[in-house]
Amino acid sequence: MTTWLVTGGAGFIGGNFVLEAVARGIKVLNLDALTYAGNRDTLASIEGDPNHVFVHGDIGDRALVAQLLADHRPDAVVNFAAESHVDRSIDGPAAFIQTNVVGTLALLEAVRDYWKALEGRSKDGFRFLHVSTDEVYGTLGETGLFTETTAYAPNSPYSASKAASDHLVRAFHHTYGLPVLTTNCSNNYGPYHFPEKLIPLVIAKALAGEPLPVYGDGKQVRDWLFVADHCEAIRTVLAKGRVGETYNVGGNAEKQNIEVVKAICALLDARRPREDGKPRESQITHVADRPGHDRRYAIDASKLRDELGWAPKYSFERGIAETVDWYLDNQPWVQRVLDGSYRLERIGVAA
Ligand code: NAD
Repeated sequence: MTTWLVTGGAGFIGGNFVLEAVARGIKVLNLDALTYAGNRDTLASIEGDPNHVFVHGDIGDRALVAQLLADHRPDAVVNFAAESHVDRSIDGPAAFIQTNVVGTLALLEAVRDYWKALEGRSKDGFRFLHVSTDEVYGTLGETGLFTETTAYAPNSPYSASKAASDHLVRAFHHTYGLPVLTTNCSNNYGPYHFPEKLIPLVIAKALAGEPLPVYGDGKQVRDWLFVADHCEAIRTVLAKGRVGETYNVGGNAEKQNIEVVKAICALLDARRPREDGKPRESQITHVADRPGHDRRYAIDASKLRDELGWAPKYSFERGIAETVDWYLDNQPWVQRVLDGSYRLERIGVAA
């Protein structure tokens, strides 16, 4: 049986990844510190499943990670654990350095020692996959795409901390031979997304009749990747990626933020019109731009397509419609995040 150690598997992408992996018969050891972004409600459907072992702990706890590796002997480690919100990194960068840099280093050291002691096929087949972001490349002008050889030029404390972690992962391959893979993906969206990020935030505020905050002119461009496509890309890289390589993952869906907000308003108006019949676009409010706000990100994912045969299956139109429907159908999940009760789940969670 295949066993994966997944870190950050109570978060948005990690949670989706763990649900899909367990559904595919993979045994998942899920290590998550349950920061504000960790939500065990997301994992409710696999609570008690023998193929899902949840461990409340920190990737920076090297002794804990070493013990888990020794006890469960995973075939791969997939590292999602991170502080991930750019605005929070502007208010308090230290936590980002602690988890994304210091924590990743401790994780790498524990995994390196575990891998070194493996033998034969277990050693040859072992992989450490590090999940990173296209934000490490900085910002683009009106044209151009990020490729795997674009120079790193991070502009926020978040992206700087992710860049540092990517470099550590690379160094552990070149220095110690650890069989690593790195993926740099664009903005994800989909089910179980914490409502501080643009898409779930706008859905929640639009339904509540509140102003919809849009930074600056709203013309910042992001490439949007549906989370199920991203999870499939990670499984593909894990299975077929060349050790030591990095792969960009994109959704082929460049949109301005304001276009995304308007698309959500239109979908909600069609599915659940406001009582006064007014279009939700009337709730849009432009607010002062984020400092250091990157203007445009866009991904060239042709290496992943040409080498490993992966391409996104979701158009933005399909993905955003499914996302809006998911939020409408799963209001109790959203409400428990908004009222804070999802955090009570942590009480009594065994370490
Ligand atoms: P998220 O914030 O939703 O989840 C992060 C998870 O990591 C949470 O469950 C949290 O409790 C856990 N965590 C935080 N610190 C930890 C620690 N020290 N030890 C163990 N667990 C810890 O993040 P996400 O959006 O799911 O992103 C997952 C990964 O993908 C991150 O590495 C992020 O940088 C990367 N990424 C995300 C996006 C995106 O659009 N969301 C885009 C590109 C890359």
